[in-house]
Amino acid sequence: MKKVLLTLFIFSLTCICSDQLFAQKKIKTMIVTGQEGAHWWEGGSDGLRQILVNSGLFSVDMAITPPRNEDISSFNPDFKKYDLVVFSYGGKTFSEKTRKSFEEYVANGGGVVLVHASVIPFSDWPAFNEIAGMGGWGGRNEKDGPYVYWKEGRIVYDYAPGSSGYHGLQHSFTITHRQPDHPILKGLPVEWLHFKDELYAKMRGPAKNMQVLATTYDVKGDNTRHEPMLWTVNYGKGKVFVTLMGHAGNDPELRYSMECTGFQVTLLRGAEWAATGQVTQEVPEDFPSKGVTTLRKGFKVPDNL
Ligand code: ZN
Repeated sequence: MKKVLLTLFIFSLTCICSDQLFAQKKIKTMIVTGQEGAHWWEGGSDGLRQILVNSGLFSVDMAITPPRNEDISSFNPDFKKYDLVVFSYGGKTFSEKTRKSFEEYVANGGGVVLVHASVIPFSDWPAFNEIAGMGGWGGRNEKDGPYVYWKEGRIVYDYAPGSSGYHGLQHSFTITHRQPDHPILKGLPVEWLHFKDELYAKMRGPAKNMQVLATTYDVKGDNTRHEPMLWTVNYGKGKVFVTLMGHAGNDPELRYSMECTGFQVTLLRGAEWAATGQVTQEVPEDFPSKGVTTLRKGFKVPDNL
């Protein structure tokens, strides 16, 4: 009997330890949100939270700024407690203290993901623009860095004067991978159809230590010019992943761009890479392909995957 009890005791200890190990393995993530310009921040950030949590790889806390009409200087989350900081934010610029704390977090090896309109704020914050690589709107022009796009098989850095940031009506568009062997994209179809979204174009910025991973063709632009949609930046020891996809409308039913499987899978892989430097996720069977788009309704991974 003693032997049985001892065995049970050891077994339960093993279970507790492996549970703890499993819990520790989750990537500790903070979503920064709370103010948006043209977006529904509650819905967008909640969608991101669900995508990250439903993957089983991330634990997520929300860091919500004070409302736009209040003083933002009290917003100073402890970035260094996290492996990953995800921005779903389009609001007021941060205080000097918060800026410094974020810059140190990234320089020391913190992971960052910027989603869609999160490339719009902070045009007056030089380090953020280096961390983002590029941004749009917010008065950005040639003083902020070149336009960067893909043309005739290579990246172009275009120093032409002009404004930054543009999108037309929402539509479905083809994403083409330009670095298919990068860990974030490895094994995925090189061309796939993204569900209806806003196509952000005319991004410009310092573009230092930046690698464009995927582009799309903007029908309003020069017909040989392809706009970056996914890119990475190395900043100090930190890694940054940017996706321009993922518009959220003002209603739970209007988050279809975020329900695109391609958006979700590249986000999850980019987030893991930014936090850990590697991607352990398998290529899912429901990933979209050339001319074919697929959705994960309710941000859930299908049961059979
Ligand atoms: Zn949008």
